[in-house]
Amino acid sequence: MTGDVTKWVYAFREGSREMPDLLGGKGANVADMTRLGLPVPPGFTLTTAACITYLGEGRVFPPGLGEQIAAHLAALEADAGKRLGDADDPLLVAVRSGARDSMPGMMDTILNLGLNDQSVEGLAATTGNPRFAFDSYRRFIQIYAAVVCGVDKHHFEAALDALKVDRGARLDVDLDADDLRGLTDTFIGIFQQHMGEAFPQDPRLQLDGAIRAVFASWETRRAYDYRRLHGIPHDLGTAVNVQRMVFGNTGDRSGTGVAFTRDNATGEPGRPFGDFLMNAQGEDVVAGIRTPRPLAELADVLPEAFAELMETMGHLERRYRDMQDVEFTIEDGRLYMLQTRNGKRSAFARVRIAVDMVDEGLVTEDEALRDLVVCAQVPQLLLPQLDSEGVTLAGLIPLAHGVNASPGAAVGAIVLTADEAERRGHAGERVILVRDETTPDDLHGMIAAQGIVTARGGKTSHAAVVAVGMGCPAVCGVETLRIDGDLVTIGDTVLAVGDLITIDGTNGAVYAGEAPVTAPDPFNPYLMRILEWADRARVLRVRANADTPDDARRARQFGAEGIGLCRSEHMFFSAERVPLVQAMIMSDDDAERERLLALLRPFQVDDFMGIFREMRGLPVTIRLLDPPLHEFLPSLLDLRLRAAANEREGICDPELDAQRARVTELHEENPMLGTRGVRLGLEFPEIFRMQAGAVMQAAIAVRDETGEAPVVEIMIPLVAYEQELRAAREMVLDEVERVRATSDGAHIEVLVGTMIELPRAALTSGDIAREAEFFSFGTNDLTQTTLGFSRDDAEKGFLGMYLRSNLLPNNPFETLDVDGVGRLIRIAAEGARPVRPGIKLGLCGEHGGDPASIMFCHDMGLDYVSCSPYRVQMARIAAGQAALNGAHGVSPSD
Ligand code: PEP
Ligand code: MG
Repeated sequence: MTGDVTKWVYAFREGSREMPDLLGGKGANVADMTRLGLPVPPGFTLTTAACITYLGEGRVFPPGLGEQIAAHLAALEADAGKRLGDADDPLLVAVRSGARDSMPGMMDTILNLGLNDQSVEGLAATTGNPRFAFDSYRRFIQIYAAVVCGVDKHHFEAALDALKVDRGARLDVDLDADDLRGLTDTFIGIFQQHMGEAFPQDPRLQLDGAIRAVFASWETRRAYDYRRLHGIPHDLGTAVNVQRMVFGNTGDRSGTGVAFTRDNATGEPGRPFGDFLMNAQGEDVVAGIRTPRPLAELADVLPEAFAELMETMGHLERRYRDMQDVEFTIEDGRLYMLQTRNGKRSAFARVRIAVDMVDEGLVTEDEALRDLVVCAQVPQLLLPQLDSEGVTLAGLIPLAHGVNASPGAAVGAIVLTADEAERRGHAGERVILVRDETTPDDLHGMIAAQGIVTARGGKTSHAAVVAVGMGCPAVCGVETLRIDGDLVTIGDTVLAVGDLITIDGTNGAVYAGEAPVTAPDPFNPYLMRILEWADRARVLRVRANADTPDDARRARQFGAEGIGLCRSEHMFFSAERVPLVQAMIMSDDDAERERLLALLRPFQVDDFMGIFREMRGLPVTIRLLDPPLHEFLPSLLDLRLRAAANEREGICDPELDAQRARVTELHEENPMLGTRGVRLGLEFPEIFRMQAGAVMQAAIAVRDETGEAPVVEIMIPLVAYEQELRAAREMVLDEVERVRATSDGAHIEVLVGTMIELPRAALTSGDIAREAEFFSFGTNDLTQTTLGFSRDDAEKGFLGMYLRSNLLPNNPFETLDVDGVGRLIRIAAEGARPVRPGIKLGLCGEHGGDPASIMFCHDMGLDYVSCSPYRVQMARIAAGQAALNGAHGVSPSD
């Protein structure tokens, strides 16, 4: 470890909690606990940089890494007074993954490393417990074979099951030392058979193999899926922790468990909860293989260790000022802490814990908002819940109860594999994934499913923890659940794949069929407190995209400060209006078009009045007609087929022929790049005129009704040229004046602005700003036109492949492409401000409801974002966090 060689390895006592980027979250916190003097088995951490270098350079250890491992291992051996793999009294180690952001169960861990045919005898002799020694060895062979060498673990499980049947043993613990010694031989045989070589006996080779496997597990599909789901970058790498083993499986005074300092489903304080298993190793708990016992029972089994654990957990929660999720092992009555981290929790728990910790004086309001609230989880508060009254009234009885592992209710068809869940889920079906236990490889199915049910596993099984983080309702540990081929027995009821079930993840019940569910309370009192903090902190305003009075009302209830986008064309689509709209577009006669528009106008006036009433006192931005013509036209293919049939049968239908001729004339090969937005308005000026007049007429009517003038903004879509905007604006203002002249009374101010949806508009924003009183970035189209990706097709086509193969870190239609589209936004803002100081700038594409994109909008100094009503609360929180965090580094790079 000379000065010019990178330091790849840190002993636990060398690290600190400020180093999670380099040591991973687990490594940093284990280092911290070591410094605090808590009972942590000693060890060392290989850095995330070592992992990235290893993966980037053809999977070879970078220079110096091998030597540094050797030096740290020697120190660990000296400290323990034992040597790795020693035949008489061996040191054993655990090799654990640990990235900066916790990814429960997504990467690999190898326990009991250092055992071989000799050292297992030494372990048996020194502990006087051959059963424990051979149990540890058979576990090690199995995990090493699976993780390092890729041998299917089911071969080993089948051998274990066969042995249990042979011995009449119900549980693993019913097997004795001789059984396990024999099983070890069987496992070694399985290894030899699949690998064509003997099981490695050299402990250092074992260690290097395990380290390589943990590094490589950063690149497994499930790890990629998890990172994509949680917005974790792919280029961070995982650290590897090599830690002296302590044993939870040495006998009746040993055990292992996982615990949370508060309830991670409800957030309830003062009631640490968790799961433990006596005489077991940690993987048994988190892998959900055996259903564990509730933590509270540990108080009766090992009261001293329990008391120490409670005290330590309290200490850790106060130190980290967040709910902690700890792993512990008790070896012959002595407690060891293996890990602490900020615990995953449901959206309900998340908001409650943030508020409680402020009230307990642990954190300030700003700290709670910034550090304890994850705004992407907020929409989960709107997850449906089981309607318990409805269930009682309908006389529904649960088929079974399990562990309420992740709250919320879900209804769906039974599927038994993750692939099937993914396939049917993507086809738009509601499915519930039913498994004996879920493994991290099921993640893609869990993402696609409405809910999860497992036969085994507790609240802290990986399945549960991951489900909680995703807001996916889950019931785990349903002991009466049996899967047999395509049949699923729950309690006494036999169901089949495809049958509907309802799960209640809040209470842990499973029902046959579709049970009633209710919308949850969007005004959760804890959330309300957090929104107050966010509103105080934020500078960015939040509006909603709303097209109807109902949407507007909802938006206002959720705290929207105006409507940033009312897509007026949505009002054209209702059944009674479509024929009028269609006839209007199809008409090639101006007078006829005017006549039809006059029939449509009262509908529009009514719609706008409804919205203005709901939004009294707040700005409403109405976007004039935008969609491509073809959305209003009959299908050309249909018309052609009908004309061909007529021809075959010698029928003459001049009306059909005329229709076909007109639709052919209007047909466009690229409608998204065709007669839309302002182009449509300039080609058919009477449409924009009618709409502008209707807006003004509605505004006057509502003013007369309420005594308060609506705040009106009219927005012109899809502008590329200043000249287009000038012509459309003159037309709009002319119509506004005409209507204004017919009314008496106070002035109603109308602003006219434009959407920025085309790169040319962004690049020439100074010119455009001369004609616009405000800009609203339409980032759906701006993304489409900047990337040349069709917003209607890309996601179901190549973009999916780009995301799966990590060519792109995220979907640019969800999260703003800061370096491309974001740069255009910056150019547009910087170009417009000098021309029209104080110009109002907003963003109303889907990105207005995406937390990372909201951060960007804050950094760019935009005035507001506008998003779906259901995302308004989340956007307020994201805007508050953006303000507290200062600059985020999400500006486009120069
Ligand atoms: C946009 O393009 O971002 C936008 C908000 O308009 P629309 O989605 O209606 O095209
Ligand atoms: Mg658009």
